[in-house]
Amino acid sequence: MSTVVENKPALAPEVTAFLNKAVQKAFVGGRWVEAADGATFDVLDPGTGQKIATVASLKKADVDKAVDIAVDAFHNSGWAKMPVNERSAVLHRIADAVEKRIHIFAQIESLDCGKVYGQAVGDIQNFIDTFRYFADLSQSVNYRNVIAVKHHEAWVARHPWGACGFIIPWNFPFLLAGWGLAPALAAGNTCVLKPAEDTPLSSLYLCHMLQELELLPAGVLNVVTGLGSEAGAAVSQNPKFRRMSFTGSPEVGRMVAEACGRNLVPVKCELGGKGAAVVFNDVDIAETAEKLVQAITFHTGQVCCDATRWLIQKDIYSDFVDECITRMKSVQVGYPMDEGTQMGPVVSAKQKARVLSYLQKGVAGGADLILEGGEAKVPGKNGFYVKPALLAGSLDNIAAREEIFGPVAYLAPFSSEEEGIRLANDTEYGLGNSVWSRDLARCARVAESFESGNGWINAHNVIVHGVPYAGVGKSGMGGGVVSPDTLNDYLRPISVVRPL
Ligand code: NAD
Repeated sequence: MSTVVENKPALAPEVTAFLNKAVQKAFVGGRWVEAADGATFDVLDPGTGQKIATVASLKKADVDKAVDIAVDAFHNSGWAKMPVNERSAVLHRIADAVEKRIHIFAQIESLDCGKVYGQAVGDIQNFIDTFRYFADLSQSVNYRNVIAVKHHEAWVARHPWGACGFIIPWNFPFLLAGWGLAPALAAGNTCVLKPAEDTPLSSLYLCHMLQELELLPAGVLNVVTGLGSEAGAAVSQNPKFRRMSFTGSPEVGRMVAEACGRNLVPVKCELGGKGAAVVFNDVDIAETAEKLVQAITFHTGQVCCDATRWLIQKDIYSDFVDECITRMKSVQVGYPMDEGTQMGPVVSAKQKARVLSYLQKGVAGGADLILEGGEAKVPGKNGFYVKPALLAGSLDNIAAREEIFGPVAYLAPFSSEEEGIRLANDTEYGLGNSVWSRDLARCARVAESFESGNGWINAHNVIVHGVPYAGVGKSGMGGGVVSPDTLNDYLRPISVVRPL
């Protein structure tokens, strides 16, 4: 059956044609394939709740075939052996081609994950920047490092590993595909990507583009669509991968890491967060409140490194809370592609229920609901909308401890610098925390005291190509992404030694 797309303002004809495909098939070995059993799943527009695509639901045997093809492409397609500068040029050509189609990709992303259109454009731009960053970086890597040792000639050579697996979540589908694929491809590996079942469309459109422009040899990039418990589990369990990268929840990350552990496949996990913002009394209250409100409402709070616990120094606490409430109330909730929308829906009915249930559980556990939140109504759209909410009280509350993944912040006061740091670190997570003050010496001190992968100063959600981004504890393991560390992860060192 064909899927009809209605009421979308100024959809590009390419997007309409793409969405009108009867079944979105997986991309394996340069060909479009269905699941062997013909199974499919539906993808909805979170802004309307309507179906926008029917997608092939691959099972273990289908995924295993894709991995075999990626292994074969590693050995036989010429990609791994291609001179670095030529491979780098291919990555630049991919970046150029995506850039030319940035509005097509952004419309698909906005429809698929309910992302405000302007933010979707930003995500696609980030993918382009990531490809360019790793394309350039790959040309300056030391691929043969001579080591001066007595009585031996020795060097370390760096080669690509082989087929690499990627499992990614629904909150930044295209951006995170770029973070994974670009360094792996730049290093000469082949890839199998499993997008989240809620948001597989932008990575499939990427494959359409790559196929049309013949930008990569067949089998170098394969996209296996399917459910997490089936296609995702099959990716995580396949022993033929040489590297695995998982981005998603700690619960699934643990399962993926266990499966990789059994096969001794090295795995990088980028997991959830419960970030804190530590706000000192010398800040500009209005400006800081504005930035934190922007952070927690950005992509409807579905951001792993978000500031979800706002720790405010006691003497400005009540003024700060007032500023936040006023600003949160004025956030325009609406359809992601409508002009004026500042915050779109959450990705699914399940995610909406999760956000609302945390508000209930938080209040039941004694938190004050200082800005009510709850379900939001957007006229004419039956999507998954929620209002921003603020809770306050004891930091032992469930809503202050667990990842909600919605536009909900939890406020609490602190007295001294030591207490601010202690409260920020009192969590199992360790992804991104921020410190806010005019005193930059204090900022540097506090930022370094965070037990997290990232410490930000007078800003939150700051991710810059070249600076490693990673989590610790329940937020992940395996090293920082978007930096030289990641490119190194995708290069296999071999020490070569000759006694003299
Ligand atoms: P999720 O863990 O439910 O799913 C992530 C991916 O894993 C999806 O592709 C899913 O299909 C797959 N999956 C599900 N079950 C699986 C299984 N048994 N075996 C293998 N794969 C399986 O996460 P989500 O709900 O899609 O995403 C939200 C989570 O991702 C949040 O916790 C968020 O903080 C985290 N996240 C972290 C980062 C980071 O960089 N640290 C970035 C984005 C999102």
